[in-house]
Amino acid sequence: MASEVSRTCIGCGEVHDKKTMIRIVKDPQGNVRADETGRANGRGAYICLNETCLEKAVKRQSLNKAFKMQVSQDAVSEVSEYIRNRLAGS
Ligand SMILES: [Zn+2]
Repeated sequence: MASEVSRTCIGCGEVHDKKTMIRIVKDPQGNVRADETGRANGRGAYICLNETCLEKAVKRQSLNKAFKMQVSQDAVSEVSEYIRNRLAGS
């Protein structure tokens, strides 16, 4: 049973505690980026805090499906960098 604090990862497809995940948001301007606050306006999708899941999401076209658009490589790179920074503890 999914609780309020669990979300499905668009990479691995598993349900995890939201705290171990990051939110990716498509803002009202149509830019896809990591949502640092977790509360940004716009359509959101959750992914585990690791690059493997991001790669899976790209491979499975999950990002494109979640945001109903072709997510640019630049946007993916930025999210990837955000994940690396978070994992590095900064
Ligand atoms: Zn995952």
